[in-house]
Amino acid sequence: MGVVSETGIAGLTLGGGYGWLTRKFGLSCDNLLSADVVTADGRWVRAGTGPDDDLDLLWALRGGGGNFGVVTSFEYRALPVGPELYVGFVVHAGSNARAALQGIRSFFEQAPEEVMSLAVVRKGPSIEEIPTEHHGKPVVIQLAVYVGDPTEGERVLHPARDIGSPIADLSGPMRYVDLQRLPDADYPAHELRNY
Ligand SMILES: Cc1cc2nc3c(=O)[nH]c(=O)nc-3n(C[C@H](O)[C@H](O)[C@H](O)COP(=O)(O)OP(=O)(O)OC[C@H]3O[C@@H](n4cnc5c(N)ncnc54)[C@H](O)[C@@H]3O)c2cc1C
Repeated sequence: MGVVSETGIAGLTLGGGYGWLTRKFGLSCDNLLSADVVTADGRWVRAGTGPDDDLDLLWALRGGGGNFGVVTSFEYRALPVGPELYVGFVVHAGSNARAALQGIRSFFEQAPEEVMSLAVVRKGPSIEEIPTEHHGKPVVIQLAVYVGDPTEGERVLHPARDIGSPIADLSGPMRYVDLQRLPDADYPAHELRNY
């Protein structure tokens, strides 16, 4: 899945698909086992690894986008996750963005593959955890997750929370499904008329 829950799974998978689980479990298309496809000439084809399946088509669908036909069904490999994971959620002032982003990069260069991170430069949301002087002003939001045991995740992600001088730290255990919906409010479905 992507990091916004409203994102369509079909385009996401056919285009590759990265999200919180990618470093541990691969892209969405890496976990596609088979697909039912209707081709431009109206044929129904099953892309997969079975004896009657089209193996080349499965290869093509894994990242080739909508170029090979209409996929009417996807079969995925399911993987155990959570339900709770440890999430590092730290906010830095925009004036410290360069140092914060460099520190974040250094940490994640050596982080284990259970760790996935995003850093976003945006205007500070008006929430009580962030000091009011930073509301509406540039901030860096660093989100990281440890895809594994939450206690181990807290230990592994602790150095990332000490980078620079954070203005807020909302880190803690979170259900994976809640993490997966965390940025949804910033991307209201059907309201942003842009790509
Ligand atoms: C707010 C937002 C957040 C995003 N976050 C992420 C993210 O975290 N990770 C990530 O990897 N990507 C992300 N994306 C990109 C997203 O993966 C693509 O926009 C994806 O194409 C959306 O899938 P969709 O099914 O809505 O595709 P559409 O926009 O409907 O279509 C995209 C392409 O796929 C083709 N297509 C769609 N469905 C089918 C089908 N069933 N069979 C054949 N072709 C089809 C279409 O013809 C078109 O060419 C994000 C996009 C948005 C808008």
